[in-house]
Amino acid sequence: MPQHIHYPEGGEKITVGSDGRLQVPDHPIIGFVEGDGIGPDINRACMRIWDQAVERAYGGRRKIHWAELFMGEKAAGLFDGNYFPDETKAALKDLLISIKGPLTTPVGGGFRSLNVSLRQELDLYACVRPVRHYAGVPSPLKRPEEVDVVIFRENTEDVYAGIEYQSGSAENQKIARFLREEMGESFFDEAGIGVKPISPFGTKRLVRKAIEYAIEHDRESVTLVHKGNIMKFTEGAFRTWGYEIAREEFADQTITEEELYATYGGKRPEGKVVIKDRIADIMFQLMLLRPTEFDVIATMNLNGDYLSDAIAAEVGGVGIAPGANMSDNVAVFEATHGTAPKYANQDKVNPGSLLFSGVMLLEHIGWSEAADLIAAAYEKVVAAGIVTYDFARSLEGATEVKTSQFADAIIDQMCGTIDLERIRRERDEAIEAERQAREQRRVVAPLEEMIASGRVPHTVADLMNPNLVTLSGDTSVEDAMHLMRERRISSVVVQPTADDEEQGWGIMTQRDVISRVVSATKQPSQVRIAEAATRPLITVAEDTSLLDCAERMGSDNIRRMVVVDTQGRPIGIISDTDIFASVEQFGLPE
Ligand code: NAP
Repeated sequence: MPQHIHYPEGGEKITVGSDGRLQVPDHPIIGFVEGDGIGPDINRACMRIWDQAVERAYGGRRKIHWAELFMGEKAAGLFDGNYFPDETKAALKDLLISIKGPLTTPVGGGFRSLNVSLRQELDLYACVRPVRHYAGVPSPLKRPEEVDVVIFRENTEDVYAGIEYQSGSAENQKIARFLREEMGESFFDEAGIGVKPISPFGTKRLVRKAIEYAIEHDRESVTLVHKGNIMKFTEGAFRTWGYEIAREEFADQTITEEELYATYGGKRPEGKVVIKDRIADIMFQLMLLRPTEFDVIATMNLNGDYLSDAIAAEVGGVGIAPGANMSDNVAVFEATHGTAPKYANQDKVNPGSLLFSGVMLLEHIGWSEAADLIAAAYEKVVAAGIVTYDFARSLEGATEVKTSQFADAIIDQMCGTIDLERIRRERDEAIEAERQAREQRRVVAPLEEMIASGRVPHTVADLMNPNLVTLSGDTSVEDAMHLMRERRISSVVVQPTADDEEQGWGIMTQRDVISRVVSATKQPSQVRIAEAATRPLITVAEDTSLLDCAERMGSDNIRRMVVVDTQGRPIGIISDTDIFASVEQFGLPE
């Protein structure tokens, strides 16, 4: 029998259906932890906003029934010094969906941190941080509205797993001896030693969640961020296992970036999520220079830690960044800042981080109308210069208000007229226009686009130009010339006809036309391209590494080769200038 936690009457529990999806009743019970320090101030303000949004969006048909759960100082007061009572753990699991304010980490007492305990106890393996810009929020970027990503950060592995051996300790000496004597490693004396475990299990469940999110929310891509070029068996393995889970479980809903270029010529097939990967350091540049390339990001603990704060800062959102920690079914949404104790009970701070964590919660349970209403009202209020003290510092001419007054202003806006239909339509249109512009760039100049978007090519298929024009050997040279001029290409691939099958595939370049047709005063309309073509084709298999390809080009003194698939069919062209451009951008290939 719970001592202090009571579920409100009139509410029903959220459950998981046999299809693994959340079953959300119209009157769900959702847990909340008020939090310490500024927690009560922001929680009070946010609850009013969330409840009002649900009321407005569904005309009273839906309502959240809040169940207070206890963690932190409030729990310690009620449960005899216990900061994280079993009753709360059980309720968080039982209710599936909860939201919490910030918690003080008790000093001493053997705690690492309440947040770490929470993640471990409930196996909340994915930290999810959506980052987008809200109009009016101060940002250092020229076009902050281009940033709209959701980061899935692995929560349980990596150097964060806490496997560390302090310099000088007996354990450190033991492991150092083992590494030197048994494994032949060398490193400086007295080095502290940390271990970085990355497992297929940990990787796959995280990437699975990211892909599921992308499919459900019609996102274009999932990017695996890693430093696999240096840490091959941990970060590199994360990349490998990430692609593996996409292939194993989402073959019908996903394609790789390689397929996007090689098979689909840069045009994303309707509804398919593109799985791609980026080296972590390049990712930081790209999020500043080409943020529209990215939708959902899946990465390990340490990369995710750096990346989520850096991207949040781009949109001025560190103070208002929302977040959630999730397991397969349990989700705890939370403000990402701390308890800011110096502002406690002053009704002063910005409720944005908790507020948008609640917006995430509403989206998670499928109540997107209420979520959109809050976001739209928030933008109107901030655009009118009504902000809390922190934003007032950087917004000239702003009106500084208290936390509760800020909540009042949002509620006022929600009660006025907000044309949600129009806001959504404009947003969808902007996203679609952006997608089409990107697609156009990929189709017109695939190689330039690939390199500029940070994709590191490994094989000739990664780097080749897939815009190959193949014509039957029976085509007249005249027709081929028209086509070459129209498409601005200097060669066409010649397919053998039934009569000359044994000669195989060939290529006809502009130079061939000059030397074999024009200079021989033959009429281009009278000559078949099979007669003007060069055969045999100099080919390279699609899985050839760039280094091997470069070596062949050098030793055979050739400038371009036709890339063929496993059945020997031409699928693209690679030239020495492609390899030159790739090495210039990414250095020597592995
Ligand atoms: P903090 O509480 O996040 O506060 C640092 C500064 O950030 C504040 O002084 C304030 O800056 C600004 N700030 C934080 N929340 C704000 C808000 N809602 N509105 C406006 N400004 C806000 O970090 P801390 O001082 O390092 O940590 C305090 C306690 O929180 C510690 O016990 C720590 O363990 C805990 N903590 C908890 C969580 C969590 O529960 N998720 C996370 C981090 C830290 P200005 O002074 O410049 O105005």
